[in-house]
Amino acid sequence: MSHSGSLSLAQATKSYPTAAGQIAVFRRLDLDIAPGEVLCLMGPSGCGKSTLLRILAGLERLDEGIASFDGGPIEGPDPRRSLVFQDFALFPWLSVADNVAFGPRARGRVEDLERRVADLLELVGLSGFERATPRSLSGGMAQRVALARALANDPEVLLLDEPLGALDVQTRLELQDAVARILRASGVTALVVTHDFDEAVVLADRVVVLGPRPARVVREVAVTLPRPRDRASLEFERVRARVVAATSEAFTRGRAA
Ligand code: ADP
Ligand code: MG
Repeated sequence: MSHSGSLSLAQATKSYPTAAGQIAVFRRLDLDIAPGEVLCLMGPSGCGKSTLLRILAGLERLDEGIASFDGGPIEGPDPRRSLVFQDFALFPWLSVADNVAFGPRARGRVEDLERRVADLLELVGLSGFERATPRSLSGGMAQRVALARALANDPEVLLLDEPLGALDVQTRLELQDAVARILRASGVTALVVTHDFDEAVVLADRVVVLGPRPARVVREVAVTLPRPRDRASLEFERVRARVVAATSEAFTRGRAA
């Protein structure tokens, strides 16, 4: 798969009108994501993480500043940039395979589709579940299907908004390792919003911490640990501690930082 897929926000400013007037979600925020980089985005609730993802997906516009993809301005949705939500919605009347095939079929990309779907289901660890219906799947399995469905569009960028937030702890641990492997194998650029420190250290090349609204990047932690990441290692624990410290600092000092 492709290794292009850089993203950038330059002096990004966004506000929403409310009954109490405009609220500034972020103001002059700068963020660059390199092709193939996995960036985890953390920050307090309501600081604008989902808004930032929707802007990069092309579903919303900035008030000021520039959002770009591979050096060109983002002007609308594009199958090369795929957004996956926490409350993934699979089509309940379609089989697992047909859910995964949905995007390519809708765009007429049917050549070799059956094999591509089988490859994707193998990648997410669901070989043999082609004919299963979403109703029969656990939450973790359904989220694996949602990932396969996003990857079926052969995206250069995956935008994951708290993708594992709705899962129980055990399933979440398993899926963190699976997602890390899938991101590596597919070579996509990924921006993952998470509140989970372990998840950030398992997945990320870099963790970016946003401050309270109006958000800016207040801290960054590079994660250079070898993959697959070993949660039991002392190095893992050290990096995790740095992410925790960066986050609490961002939460308490925020704008002053
Ligand atoms: P996060 O994902 O970091 O929790 P969001 O991006 O969802 O934050 O929201 C940032 C702020 O913008 C919140 O205060 C939220 O209430 C507000 N907001 C988000 N979407 C809209 C919208 N469509 N209209 C008005 N306000 C919104
Ligand atoms: Mg959100």
